[in-house]
Amino acid sequence: MLMQSFACDRCSATFWCGGICGAYILEGGSDMPVFSAESWCHDCNALVEAEAFPGVDAFERALARLLANGLDDDDRETAKLLETAEDTFLAQQISDWRTRLDWRKNRVSAPRCLTCGSTHIHVLFDESRFTSFADALAGFSHPNCGGTFRRAEIGHGHPSGVTQFDSEGLQLDRESPVA
Ligand SMILES: [Zn+2]
Ligand SMILES: [Zn+2]
Repeated sequence: MLMQSFACDRCSATFWCGGICGAYILEGGSDMPVFSAESWCHDCNALVEAEAFPGVDAFERALARLLANGLDDDDRETAKLLETAEDTFLAQQISDWRTRLDWRKNRVSAPRCLTCGSTHIHVLFDESRFTSFADALAGFSHPNCGGTFRRAEIGHGHPSGVTQFDSEGLQLDRESPVA
């Protein structure tokens, strides 16, 4: 999976983000991927991956669009790659979005750092304030020194397994091998 490092232009701090492959384990045992974004964690004192999820309305819109319009071109492409019939793929997508919507409606906690579970985080890319990730990066000062982070390197990580979280974003201390 894609990882990238960010280096501070004022001190020697460098942080790698992106190496976590996470899944929520939901009640009843089904799972759902964790969506994350680069964030500053005040408790790790580091740039980390943290949960990133929009409000209930965004999940409702996605489900409504799928129910009204069916698959879009990207979805059809994915169905083809997976060698899944479009009808089957659509039914899966609808079921997945219903699961996500249910999860979002029940979610109590604010987004958490995937490393330490803290909610004391600052998501770098706030779409209401910045139009690009580069702008968001430039608009954030390293709290330790006031410097600015720049994307330094891109690499590929090989997570040893899927990190499992409960529906409130707290890490479960068991790992399952990547399927
Ligand atoms: Zn710094
Ligand atoms: Zn943390």
